[in-house]
Amino acid sequence: MPEKKHPLYQFKYCPKCGSNHFVDNNFKSKCCEDCGFIYYFNPSSATIGVIFNEKNEILVATRAHEPAKGTLDLPGGFVDMNETAEEAVIREIKEETGLDVSAAQYLFSIPNLYMYSGFEVETTDLFFLCKVDSNARFAANDDVAELKFLPLSDLNPSLFGLRSVKQGIAKIQMMNL
Ligand SMILES: [Zn+2]
Repeated sequence: MPEKKHPLYQFKYCPKCGSNHFVDNNFKSKCCEDCGFIYYFNPSSATIGVIFNEKNEILVATRAHEPAKGTLDLPGGFVDMNETAEEAVIREIKEETGLDVSAAQYLFSIPNLYMYSGFEVETTDLFFLCKVDSNARFAANDDVAELKFLPLSDLNPSLFGLRSVKQGIAKIQMMNL
């Protein structure tokens, strides 16, 4: 098996002083031999919204952009600094669908990894069951090309482009939500 590269192998220079003596410290950090700066690489928090209508259909998006452009996805996105994950999932669903979430209940988390800008971004994807007004109109916006409600039981997880969402859909199908 090929040895896994250090997650910061592409970062050659100390981001603080610019020294090129920026070396592996442990499996998730590098340190600068000149100024002593230590940089830890931790996953970013991201949110995923699970929205059902009264027919037990789940709101599914088609990804408008890379990575995994054109594959199925669930609405959601990164948590901003100084924002709760609940606020983030509500904000992202509003941005991507126009829907107002009245309640967001945490379900579970799954680690994810995807290429963005030639860099492997590590995330902790937090899944939330989100309540919306089932009569509200919605429209695909932002990172989403198309939105539709699909029956949960018929959904094939392999149609989803991101690893964590594939696993999340399979998990949700086994839960009684
Ligand atoms: Zn330095």
